[in-house]
This record gives sequence, structure tokens and C-alpha cells, in this order.
Amino acid sequence: MNKFLLKVEGLRTYYDVEGGEVKAVDGVDFSLKKGESLGIVGESGCGKTTLGYSIINFVPPNGKIAKGRIQFDDMNISAMPEAELRKRIRWKKISMIFQEAMNCLNPFYTVGNQMIETLQIHAPEIKRDEAEELVRRSLKTMDLGTDVIDMYPHELSGGMKQRVVIAMGLMLDPEIVIADEPTSALDVIIQARILNMLKNLQRKLELSLILITHDLSIISEVADYVAVMYAGEFIEYGPLYEIYKCQSHPYTHLLFESIPKMMGKQSLRYIPGIPPNLKSPPYGCRFHPRCPYAIEKCKVKEPTRTKLTKNHYAKCHRIGEKLW
Ligand code: ATP
Ligand code: SF4
Ligand code: MG
Repeated sequence: MNKFLLKVEGLRTYYDVEGGEVKAVDGVDFSLKKGESLGIVGESGCGKTTLGYSIINFVPPNGKIAKGRIQFDDMNISAMPEAELRKRIRWKKISMIFQEAMNCLNPFYTVGNQMIETLQIHAPEIKRDEAEELVRRSLKTMDLGTDVIDMYPHELSGGMKQRVVIAMGLMLDPEIVIADEPTSALDVIIQARILNMLKNLQRKLELSLILITHDLSIISEVADYVAVMYAGEFIEYGPLYEIYKCQSHPYTHLLFESIPKMMGKQSLRYIPGIPPNLKSPPYGCRFHPRCPYAIEKCKVKEPTRTKLTKNHYAKCHRIGEKLW
């Protein structure tokens, strides 16, 4: 199937803050077909969560989609009235597993009650016995038994809590799931198990998955495409295997270099400096104050996207030079 399920064009999402605006998402474009997965990777504060919120049009009150268009299955959902979005799109077509959601489970409610309450909020038309069935079914999808229904969050391990949270996101059979750092609070073994489950589910249910993470090694487990985000922009985008084989942007290269390697004696590299303040990002290339390959031009001129292959581009003035 060649049709895009989701198409994001020229998206800019800004927050109003004292004395200005934080340009958290600043010109993002991508599209996703049914069953495809996109991994969005970048350091803390680069705008990953804001991008997720924007896709479901659920930006915090001091923020707004300032420009751009989000199309889901022929509908312009960025211009859709809130009531219609709630009724037709959020959770039913596109659900988001929020960052830190497992820590936000209510300690005073059983898992079953919280899941049913969530269903009642997002799909009030569903009757109680149907809701109970949906809860059982989605828990089973995440390999959780029905005994979990009567348990309280403190009775569950971290991995089980995270699976409950993912099950909640799947209850209404969405076509797209946005998972924001779904495994970052878990140890590596549990992390691998949950990623594996997500990947299997994605294949079985033909889900489109947007996985948001600061950890590049996680992306490689799940994604077909990778978007490397820096200071509100995608600075490199392409198929996972191409980016793995050949990183074209210095920041992507440094991200790869900073993955701990099990074998070999190379010392661990890190990215120098700190991410920029998005209220006043650097002029020219936003990465120039931290880039070991920066030249004068980088300080004054913003790079445009250079197309490397059909679906692969990067934003850097020095593409084509052998820098590393
Ligand atoms: P992390 O990896 O830490 O979760 P992130 O990539 O998800 O970071 P966002 O949470 O989207 O980044 O934040 C992007 C930028 O927007 C940051 O500079 C952040 O401080 C700012 N920001 C986020 N939420 C708000 C808000 N409600 N008001 C003002 N600024 C905000
Ligand atoms: Fe580095 Fe210049 Fe490329 Fe930016 S444009 S990533 S500063 S070399
Ligand atoms: Mg975030």
C-alpha cells in the first residue's frame, strides 16, 4: 500500500514564555504509511515530546501549532475542531503513550478501574461490559493476565506497569501509536522485552509506530525510518539501514559514536557542549557552536536539506566531504 496514513508538513509548534517564544518544533516534515515505524531520536529538550503532542493536537495551553498541516487519512487534523478530534481521532485512530505515564498511574485505583475510566473518557459510547472485554483483550495483547485487573499499581513491577500503560494506548485499536520514551525508566532486559513486544504487535496489527527516544540503540530495535532531531528540526532523516551504514550529518555521527560499544578499545565519545536554548537558537546552523566540523559559513547561513537518496536527507553545509 502506497498511500500515506500520516503526513506532517511544515510543522511549527511554539510555546509562549515570558519575554518571547520557545520554538520547540520548528519546521518538521515527514510521512508514514500503514505498518511503518519511525524512530525520533535526539537529546533532551530538542522537541520530541512537543512533536508527539502536536500530532494529536494536544499541545499544552501555553503552546500552539503556529504553522503547518497534519493530515491523517485524507483529513486535515490540525484544523479539526477539538470536539471532533476527541470523538474521531485521539485514542481511536492515533494514541500516545505519554512519557512517564507509568509513574502517573493512580495508586488508589486498580488497574482495571483506571483502564475503564480511560475508556469512558475517550469513548463514552462504549458500554461497561464491552469496556471490560476491551480491557481484558488489550492486557492479553501485552502478555498480561486478567489477574492484573484487580491489582494496584504498587503491586506491579516497572515492566508490568509500562505494559499496562501500552495496553491502555491500544484499547481502542488505533492505527498509529506514538510511544514517548516507553522504556527509558526500565532496565535493559525488560527494555528489550518490551521493545520486542512492540515490534511484534506492530507487525501483527499492522500498526504505524512513532517511537520517541533519546537512546539511539533503542531505535535500531524497532524503526524502519529514523529522524534525528536537533533544536526543533529534523537534521537528518532516512531509512534505518542507510543511516546506520552512513551517517551524513555530524550530529548523527556523534550520536552513533556515543553509543557504548561492548567490544573494542575505543574510548566513548560524547557530544561537546549543551543543547541550545530554543527561545533564541543559534544563527546559521543551530549545531554550529558544538560542531567539530563547523566552518565560517555555518555561523551565518542556515543549511538547507540535501537529498542523499530517495528518502534520505540531511541539513549540513559540508555534505559530500569526508569529515570522519
Ligand atoms: P526530553 O528528552 O527531555 O523529554 P523533548 O525532546 O521531549 O525532551 P520537549 O519536552 O518537547 O523536548 O521540549 C522542547 C522545548 O520546549 C524545551 O526547550 C522545553 O524546555 C520547552 N517546553 C516544553 N514544554 C513547555 C511549556 N509548556 N512551556 C514552555 N516551554 C516548554
Ligand atoms: Fe557542522 Fe556546519 Fe554541518 Fe552545521 S552545517 S553540522 S556546523 S559542518
Ligand atoms: Mg520528552
